[in-house]
Amino acid sequence: MAAFSRAKHRWKRDNLFRVLTRNLTGKYDYDLVVIGGGSGGLACSKEAALVGQKVAVLDYVEPSVKGTKWGLGGTCVNVGCIPKKLMHQAALLGTAVKDAKKYGWQIPEPIFHDWATMAEAVQNHVRSLNWGHRVDHLLSLDISLFFMGYEQMLFPFPLNQTILTAKDIVIATGGRPNVLQIPGAMEHGITSDDIFWLRKSPGKTIIVLNSSDVALECAGFLTGIGLDTTVMVRSIALRGFDQQMAVLVTDYMEAYGTKFAWKCIPKKVEKLTSGALQVTWMEINTSKEYQDTYDCILWAVGRAPETKLLGLDKLGVQINKETGKIIVRPDESTSVPNIYAFGDIAEGRPELTPTAIKAGKLLAHRLAGRSSELMNYHSVATTVFTPLEYGCVGLSEEEAEKRHGKDGIEVYHAFYKPLEFTVAERDAGQCYLKVVCEREGDQKILGLHFTGPNAGELMQGFALSLKCGATYSHLLQTVGIHPTCAEEVIKVNITKRSGLDATVTGC
Ligand code: FAD
Repeated sequence: MAAFSRAKHRWKRDNLFRVLTRNLTGKYDYDLVVIGGGSGGLACSKEAALVGQKVAVLDYVEPSVKGTKWGLGGTCVNVGCIPKKLMHQAALLGTAVKDAKKYGWQIPEPIFHDWATMAEAVQNHVRSLNWGHRVDHLLSLDISLFFMGYEQMLFPFPLNQTILTAKDIVIATGGRPNVLQIPGAMEHGITSDDIFWLRKSPGKTIIVLNSSDVALECAGFLTGIGLDTTVMVRSIALRGFDQQMAVLVTDYMEAYGTKFAWKCIPKKVEKLTSGALQVTWMEINTSKEYQDTYDCILWAVGRAPETKLLGLDKLGVQINKETGKIIVRPDESTSVPNIYAFGDIAEGRPELTPTAIKAGKLLAHRLAGRSSELMNYHSVATTVFTPLEYGCVGLSEEEAEKRHGKDGIEVYHAFYKPLEFTVAERDAGQCYLKVVCEREGDQKILGLHFTGPNAGELMQGFALSLKCGATYSHLLQTVGIHPTCAEEVIKVNITKRSGLDATVTGC
């Protein structure tokens, strides 16, 4: 790590900042001010510093409604991908312990999971990442970091506040979870911003879902560590994903022990004298009301972008009134010169860490005049970390059909059994893959979908092949690695159109 003098850096707290893209002298404090120290903002600022720009980062974490706070690094590090994946791992280990007995391990019964131990370990890891971001990344690159960077940018000229001037301003303030507007929701519910920071087990939990992957992932790890978990779904799960795959994911979860209340909406939450939360909900089709008690209610009803407090309207930065997100062009520019936005705050961008990071790095290069390369948001692979993981890249079958017509696509598919499921006698009924291709010519692959163990690891490699324009014949030319689940992808040969049984048999 480069030596640094702490005094050289401005570590300020309890300050409000306003950021100007112009001043009267034509000189700026910084080449670039980045608002938001999350995945995208930090990547952009670090890259800008590496190519010689003078950079400041402003980060501010508004505590959750339950008062949960965290450090530098944004959603992914503190309340997103990292703690989520670690808790998913805790759940997978629970399943592995059950499998282990079939493999000869003598495990004394009963086994149980201790939330406090898991939470402390996960939180300690997150804190180490917060520190790493500050010291190893920002300080060693001479990037000024300000906490409480906030409030209206630009006009009117502020009084009694610190003003930073910069040639360019980048907004990467991400989003925060919504809470439903029903009686008791705010007082008694928590969101994903809280679940990873609970010191005590949430106990019997109901998760109200608005089609998001986050809700299913949380339900998956809570079930996996042995908690009574229910998911309430208004319409469908995993909107925007291939719906055949979504059904496989939720079917597996139901068999795994997660309860589902389909086509239901919550009406109110009350706290009983016992301390339990009484939730009343309605079944949409019958309008019948039901009640049950829970220890915890978790809202997973979408996320709202953090644009409210930035005063963007006063600047004329165009916002989508429906979503609240900033409207951006392909080069991440907004309707106001020298102001850019990307990551979760920007309209139409995938809400994923790697896209925010990549977009931020490319923007830093363009702003420094080092490159003109734009971010390519097409065919970004992703994985839903549910008990049976679901990885995908490219188009869903529905989207491919919409674009190319039913007769314009060929779908190869297979139900396969992971070898590790056999001895463990695990049901592999939902382990499935499909390759959606153009029907004509070389049969270019349009989308690839896979449910099974280590879906994320598998999908990353196939994402590269799609970037290189892989076709179905490329799959056939590829030799598999045996015995793996990934080899099933390159062996797939049954088309949906044929109607033949797609169950893989033998080696
Ligand atoms: P963020 O990381 O949210 O950073 C924004 C930063 O700006 C925050 O630090 C915020 O406090 C700060 N800020 C807000 N307002 C202001 C202001 N006015 N002034 C200064 N600072 C401000 N993605 C994946 O790729 N894989 C996953 O497995 C995955 N899992 C997820 C699980 C959960 C539970 C959640 C909620 C998200 C998950 N995501 C995942 C999504 C991913 O975390 C986000 O897409 C990513 O963090 C977006 O990065 P960003 O830089 O746009 O915003």
